[in-house]
Amino acid sequence: MTRSIDMVVFDIDGTLIVHPTGKVVWQHLCHRFGTPIEVNHARLKQHVSGELSYADWVRLDIEDWQRAGARRSQVVDALREFRLREGARAALSELERRGYRLAAVSGTLDILVETVFPDHPFERIFSNRIFFDDDGAISGWEATPFDFDGKATALRELASDGTVSLERMAFVGDDINDVDAAKAVGFSVAHHPRSEELAACCDLIIREGSLEQLLEYLP
Ligand SMILES: [Mg+2]
Repeated sequence: MTRSIDMVVFDIDGTLIVHPTGKVVWQHLCHRFGTPIEVNHARLKQHVSGELSYADWVRLDIEDWQRAGARRSQVVDALREFRLREGARAALSELERRGYRLAAVSGTLDILVETVFPDHPFERIFSNRIFFDDDGAISGWEATPFDFDGKATALRELASDGTVSLERMAFVGDDINDVDAAKAVGFSVAHHPRSEELAACCDLIIREGSLEQLLEYLP
């Protein structure tokens, strides 16, 4: 089979890294540091309706944790509840062995990847970032411009040096914020999709089982 894909780009939250209850990192840390779930739902709704920018949404969540006195060690402890999805490590190392370039574009936090997948094989990760001072208190953050519609922008940035085209990229995601990225690439995969809108626009849908099924389609 002739290879038509050179680079495989992954979403992280819900695709590669999962919580036993299905929560994403934002919901989990808000819960840990006392933000009521109704407040989370309201912020999501406001963001979707255009009243709350993504950067302000990130700020409101992280300011809540800061006010609650969150320390780096507590954040890391809370994030240890997350796990790599079944087959993720095996699938990624086999893709790497087959010569695919690997990257991640995610609305997650960098500290989740550092905690759960420190030995990841990605040449580049686009995500939100959080900073701590020497005492472990939250000292700042950087909201990613590359979530939702911005995910496709990150893919274009990966392609901007001319070493890979969008047509020869694959994207693997699970949720509504992956729709634009999925539409931008040559081969799109909805893995355990939570969004039927995403499933509807993907070339391949894997509804259950291991991420290793992906290997069948990426020779
Ligand atoms: Mg996701």
